[in-house]
Amino acid sequence: MSDKDTAFVKEITPRSEDFSRWYTDVIRRAELADYSPVKGCMVIRPYGYAIWELMQQSLDRRFKETGHVNAYFPMFIPESLLKKEAAHVEGFAPQVAWVTQGGDEKLEERLVVRPTSEAIIGVMYSKWIQSWRDLPVLINQWVNVVRWEKVTRLFLRTTEFLWQEGHTVHETEAEAQEETLKMLGVYKEFAETELAMPVHAGEKTESEKFAGAVKTYSIEALMGDGRALQAGTSHNLGQNFSKVFDIKFQARDKSVQYGWQTSWGMSTRLIGAVIMVHGDDSGLILPPRVAPYQVVMVPIPRGDWRETVLPHAERIKSELEGQGLRVMLDDREEHSPGWKYAEWEMRGVPLRLEIGPRDIKNEQVMLVRRDTREKLPTPMAGLTERVVELLQEIQQSLFDRAVAFRAEHTLQTTDRAEFDATLAGRPGYVVAPWCGSADCEAQIKTATQATIRNLPLDPPPASGACIQCGKAGQVDAYFAKSY
Ligand SMILES: [Zn+2]
Repeated sequence: MSDKDTAFVKEITPRSEDFSRWYTDVIRRAELADYSPVKGCMVIRPYGYAIWELMQQSLDRRFKETGHVNAYFPMFIPESLLKKEAAHVEGFAPQVAWVTQGGDEKLEERLVVRPTSEAIIGVMYSKWIQSWRDLPVLINQWVNVVRWEKVTRLFLRTTEFLWQEGHTVHETEAEAQEETLKMLGVYKEFAETELAMPVHAGEKTESEKFAGAVKTYSIEALMGDGRALQAGTSHNLGQNFSKVFDIKFQARDKSVQYGWQTSWGMSTRLIGAVIMVHGDDSGLILPPRVAPYQVVMVPIPRGDWRETVLPHAERIKSELEGQGLRVMLDDREEHSPGWKYAEWEMRGVPLRLEIGPRDIKNEQVMLVRRDTREKLPTPMAGLTERVVELLQEIQQSLFDRAVAFRAEHTLQTTDRAEFDATLAGRPGYVVAPWCGSADCEAQIKTATQATIRNLPLDPPPASGACIQCGKAGQVDAYFAKSY
């Protein structure tokens, strides 16, 4: 296949033309993931999995810094266990996959493939926890879960996906609430620092909370098409699960009490978020901190370049790697430099380094930023420091750009006509007063398709009357259409 043909194959639908097709094109052409023969299940390809590994490492580090440890619980949950917490089973029943047979024997009790692990973990905690001295329990697990989905979308909603789920038990209600908000804070800081993705941290309304939780909090991000995406959740479970799973302990005053629990999770959906927040018409733009390759080096093949250019390129590569950078040296002979530029642009590598015979004579290289496409002739002397600096600049500028986009696509209003017109026409958040009633929330959803993404923590007083019923507003809520 000639370069020309390949360039044609690599072409993607422009983002501005059809966001949804652009999203799928980018994932498949950049080889992040692919559809599989199993309906609703995806294959995460090595380039996509490398992004997940980087996310995992930096989240896992944060979990450990906040005192958590990792463990592993079975993926099968007996039906009787899942059914113990009424709200929990009601919430998950339509989505669970059942195992009814092992080998050629029908099982006496059906098993579900975990949609989440509160039930199986609860049973174990009731065995392990006897005294206040056993608390807090701060366990996380990195696993796959299965939720039978009718409509699926690569990374955003698939029948099987990868995630982490934290499950903690505390002595007091206050400690559980503190943990719930602490992990919400960890998620927010992770999303903003590592993914360059600004998020609103807030509380979910009663109708949007997790099945079985007392309170659910989320971080919400705004995608490039103006729709919101729930990017992580943290739940205060109160004593709902400890009562049904009998997680009891002897308290300091010798009384017997039920434990106070939390759970929290983030998933491979974040990869979808990164694609949709930062990408452009040419494809992916990866924040340097989660880019499998932060720098791609393209040698210019003139004359006997394998003898003249390549040794310099290899030296630069090992210097960059010496600083802990992730570098790809693309010295393939079968592709032209122009083809490689387009290919690695599409795959979102933050910085390109071009080096040819003329550069070597001038003791410089050409650096090209993926985010701004700026070309920066850069002296060889001090090159590594400059690359490190530029990657930090790119990370920051992607965040700033996303913050500006969100500001441009957030409208505050107390006027219902403006509220409706904005949700119908211009995508993004509409911040408007709400009275707190689930009826008003449901009516707004029916009329506009927008839901309350979350309610700000420590909100100021509402800016006016409820946008739906006109009664006293309780809080200004973030409304948006969402994934
Ligand atoms: Zn109302």
